Amino acid sequence: MTRLILATRNAGKITELRTILADAGLPHDLVGADAFPDIPDVKETGVTFAENALLKAHALAQATGLPAVADDSGLCVDVLNGAPGIFSARWSGKHGDDRANLELLLAQLSDIADEHRAAHFACAAALALPDGRQEVVEGRLHGTLRHTPVGTNGFGYDPILQPEGDTRTCAQLTPDEKNAISHRGQAFRALVPVVRQLLG
Ligand code: IMP
Repeated sequence: MTRLILATRNAGKITELRTILADAGLPHDLVGADAFPDIPDVKETGVTFAENALLKAHALAQATGLPAVADDSGLCVDVLNGAPGIFSARWSGKHGDDRANLELLLAQLSDIADEHRAAHFACAAALALPDGRQEVVEGRLHGTLRHTPVGTNGFGYDPILQPEGDTRTCAQLTPDEKNAISHRGQAFRALVPVVRQLLG
């Protein structure tokens, strides 16, 4: 059984990818970055989701000698030409302050009418091998932005993104409902043929 490492300490992400690989008949032993606690975090110096995912996957593959998967994601707003994009986690200036990021974005869009509030979550997922081979795939979840946050599930910008075809925000979906349509779920599922091709 091939051992595969995912560049995250988030148990939810590990379970999601493990389930997707197992459902596809790829019984790889997937571990999280916690399995190698001494490995330093990688600086995300890329300017696209794909570049950052590849940076993280290569760094982890080199440090562990294992095939490594990494993802990078964010919210892209049409009327802001794709921003916050790679700056999603630190849009308000403080990394990881979900509430401040969301409130700043809503303030910036306060004059924007419903028909111009299209946005999508984007996720790039990369697989890098210790020998340098690499592949990167992407997934998107399209929707529109609400004027006020609704719902308590999820994280980040979930309370303001209403997926296409739904009347609820992402923060009103159950974790299973969100995984079934999410940008990350789509990117992880798109990795299945890549894992099959590169790792067998
Ligand atoms: P990461 O790449 O998973 O660390 O996500 C970067 C940032 O993008 C997060 O801090 C959130 O602000 C935003 N983001 C990414 N995915 C989601 C999502 O599924 N829901 C809400 N916000 C997200």
